[in-house]
Amino acid sequence: MASHVWGQVQQELKDGMSGNSFKSWIAPLELKTLDGQVATFEVPTGFIGNYVNQNFGDQILYQLNKAGQDVQRLKFAVPTGKRSVASDTVAAPQKSAKPSMGSDMGSSIDPRYTFDSFVVGKPNELAHAAARRVAEGGEVSFNPLFLYGGVGLGKTHLMHAIANELARARPDLNVLYLSAEQFMYRFITALRDRKMMDFKSQLRSVDVLMVDDVQFMAGKDSTQEEFFHTFNALIEARKQIILSGDRAPGEMKDMEDRIRSRMQCGLVVDLHPTDYELRLGVLQSKAEIQAASYPNQVIAPGVLEFLAHRITTNVRVLEGALVRLFAFASLVDREITLELTQDCLSDVLKANDRKVTVEEIQRKVSEHYNIRLSDLIGPKRLRAYARPRQVAMYLCKTMTSRSLPDIGRRFGKRDHTTVMHGVRRIEELSATDSQIADDLELLRRALEE
Ligand code: ADP
Ligand code: MG
Repeated sequence: MASHVWGQVQQELKDGMSGNSFKSWIAPLELKTLDGQVATFEVPTGFIGNYVNQNFGDQILYQLNKAGQDVQRLKFAVPTGKRSVASDTVAAPQKSAKPSMGSDMGSSIDPRYTFDSFVVGKPNELAHAAARRVAEGGEVSFNPLFLYGGVGLGKTHLMHAIANELARARPDLNVLYLSAEQFMYRFITALRDRKMMDFKSQLRSVDVLMVDDVQFMAGKDSTQEEFFHTFNALIEARKQIILSGDRAPGEMKDMEDRIRSRMQCGLVVDLHPTDYELRLGVLQSKAEIQAASYPNQVIAPGVLEFLAHRITTNVRVLEGALVRLFAFASLVDREITLELTQDCLSDVLKANDRKVTVEEIQRKVSEHYNIRLSDLIGPKRLRAYARPRQVAMYLCKTMTSRSLPDIGRRFGKRDHTTVMHGVRRIEELSATDSQIADDLELLRRALEE
């Protein structure tokens, strides 16, 4: 009986939070008993129990009640062997433990997410320009501004940048930033505590409202309803609204039509997947930030370019890779070279493998330098062949996961030390010789297509 109810409640909870939150905290929870007004859950550790209670206790209580269970309290028990030992009983969360409504009802703004730290490139220039415009705080002709795009492309960063800029230039404005989950959370707690009037009036007193990841509202009818009214009230009062989502409003299923069309009536801009230039720009900027924490750490030429080529998923992954690289290099006290990078990030690199083959590289390089493939691979040491050969070896090392001996074999059975020498030579040259750097750039691009 308990498990049946819990299965339903879990589904409801799932719709109201991020996939990660759900997977990490709610999915593993087991409802053991529903006894009187106490629901007892089994959790592997006391920490997990506390965490779940603090962060999701209200939602769980609310959903249990909605499912017809008169539950007043949650209990989290840690089993020891076969015998269940209850951990300290945790009462339903105190209202005072939650931030009160009012100016601090939103979530905090990350001061690092500014326009200065946002790298602009082709894929995000429109979104950036629109965000800048809104951040001026004046009368804006598009309302709402709707930013959408895949995960890790900078939507949240831009929203925080707007908030940071407004806080600096227009401290008179009341700016509220909420994730859609927080919006829902406030909404359900206001319902539970019979504070809907406060909730409504406080939402409607803001000058700028931002709601991040609105796709999480899909399917949540009562929350959408409330959101819609807030939305309309603010737009009528000519207050700015900024929304983000993982897809265009028109493509949001389980979102009411009138909300969908409302979301489209301002400016809808998308953040495109990153391109090479943008990734390199982001890496250079983030490397500078990292370098401030690791002043003795040196990055060898070519490493950032290598990462920009090889990690193409999103900026968050790129950033994570860099953080890891710096930490690892400082731990082993070594310079950040291509080799170290490949060692340290092999899992990330593998996941992003673009599968360029040695043969493709050889073919492109010989075309580029207008020499025969047989001369590129063959034994002649003429400079007209040797340099392109080194370029090709370098590209094989950086764009494939082949080992040095393996690459050597494919270049006319050369020794791995020859390959290593070639790779190093091109690494050095690419920093000083712009012709080589340009060649590498062109070739990489051609190979990426
Ligand atoms: P989203 O909200 O679109 O999923 P985020 O705004 O959370 O993405 O971005 C993920 C990470 O990548 C953040 O740390 C952010 O600072 C960084 N990031 C994304 N785009 C850029 C950019 N153009 N310049 C600098 N950092 C960026
Ligand atoms: Mg985000």
